[in-house]
Amino acid sequence: MERNKLEALVRANIRTLCPYSTARDEYQGPLGVFLDANESPYPTGYNRYPDPHQKALKEQLSAIKGLPVENIFLGNGSDEAIDLMFRVFCEPGRDNAVAIAPSYGMYAVAAAINDVEVRSVPLGEDFSLPAEALLGAADDRSKLLFLCSPNNPSGNAFDAEALLALVSRFPGIVVLDEAYADFSAKGSLRAKVLECPNLVVLQTLSKAYGLAGLRLGMAFADEYVIRLMSMVKYPYNINQATQELVSKVLTEPVGAKIEETVAQRGRIERALPAYGFVRRVYPSDANFLLVQVDDADALYAHLLADGIIVRNRTRVPGCAGCLRITVGLPSENDRLLQSLDRYEKGDIHR
Ligand SMILES: *Cc1c(COP(=O)(O)O)cnc(C)c1O
Repeated sequence: MERNKLEALVRANIRTLCPYSTARDEYQGPLGVFLDANESPYPTGYNRYPDPHQKALKEQLSAIKGLPVENIFLGNGSDEAIDLMFRVFCEPGRDNAVAIAPSYGMYAVAAAINDVEVRSVPLGEDFSLPAEALLGAADDRSKLLFLCSPNNPSGNAFDAEALLALVSRFPGIVVLDEAYADFSAKGSLRAKVLECPNLVVLQTLSKAYGLAGLRLGMAFADEYVIRLMSMVKYPYNINQATQELVSKVLTEPVGAKIEETVAQRGRIERALPAYGFVRRVYPSDANFLLVQVDDADALYAHLLADGIIVRNRTRVPGCAGCLRITVGLPSENDRLLQSLDRYEKGDIHR
């Protein structure tokens, strides 16, 4: 898509929005006396409002991710970025979004909250990308296409070429959720946002970076899209504690943890087919495995009674008989496999 076509996708009220501004943007010097925001002057460590532009954190992430600060949006989890896609681009009750299914539940929830129709397109054989069906589901009110790679809950990553072909053919914004890209040998397409104005890539610190409790999601996109998202977000969407703690954790390497998780994923993947009740272990590019078993509800209940909580996906269309199992610590995975041993022997919790 050409850059000059982006503006037509934006809701009219957002195109003309005059965003909230803070007086502090007008002062850049040191040692100011801040009498502009009705904060308490007494230090608690948090008596000042946080930086609404998250400048320091974005510069740090810019170096790690290899993209300019202007192409980065930070949100209260990627969930905020997902919600903003609807608020920026979709006229409630009129526009629609296309999405693959099964996939991450928040796309449909955010759509429903914003009164936007979702046109779900089932994945193909072996959870393959249904490119033609996705394009066929779109009409002139389709503003968004949600793709997730590696996909949750199927675990597979799609080919870069197939994803980029969709980006060039879809007449709206393509949101590519890469929450699990750190675990995949296929890598990330975030650098492509510099060439593809209608591509928005989502990543998060909630998975590989181990910071789910701090809530920090990232969107990478054309700077015009980033400006729109920044205008619509709450001014202080990333709190001071999160900005400081994330900044500290980002100086520590995560590579060894990712490698261990990928190795443990391989270990569980190889162990599972030996069990008589396991029908299928789907290949995974993420930190979880989707496993089809004879009786998902019974195995789920057994594991739960053993204190092992997995996600029962058997009632999700396309996932009949499936449990989604997150890869844990080696010792936690030991417990999982021991519990599966007992289930296999008929030593079943009810
Ligand atoms: C876990 C997950 C996220 C993470 O969302 P946050 O709000 O950043 O914690 C996003 N997308 C998918 C597909 C996920 O599975």
